[in-house]
Amino acid sequence: MTPSQARNAIRRSLKTLVDPSPAKQEKDAIWHYFDNACAYCGYTMTRHGRQAHLDHLVAEMAGGSNRMCNLVLTCARCNGDQKRELDWQEYLATCCGEDKALYNLRLQKIYHWVEQNEGAPLLAPELAALCEQEFDLINQQFSEAVARLREIARQAKADSPGHTEE
Ligand SMILES: [Zn+2]
Repeated sequence: MTPSQARNAIRRSLKTLVDPSPAKQEKDAIWHYFDNACAYCGYTMTRHGRQAHLDHLVAEMAGGSNRMCNLVLTCARCNGDQKRELDWQEYLATCCGEDKALYNLRLQKIYHWVEQNEGAPLLAPELAALCEQEFDLINQQFSEAVARLREIARQAKADSPGHTEE
């Protein structure tokens, strides 16, 4: 894991303290609503296989929550490298190709899911701001530690026998 991946993992881990992952019956509801199929490409999955993921419509790094209205059932391929930084609507369009009817069907299905699960915001804005402060603080301390360790590594290399200055 690179420092940058670790930074994201730490943030995710801290965020679940205030924004827990969905409970089992919430996951059941997601599976049921999406008919065991990927919301983007339609690939059918089994509950105990390892291909299924819950994709955040608004990415966690962009402030997206773990609430049901922000999660859809997807296959590993769509959740991983394929979607990357694309908006989910853009990504869905790439999955449906020229089939506009299919695109609209899947789009409406996702919108309906979002509407049906939308509720009050997870955290009041002032509490959300406090969380961001905590994330920023740990992020800064982490970055400082990375910089110090890189400097130690650089010195160790310079001090090692056989090293010649460039
Ligand atoms: Zn998929």
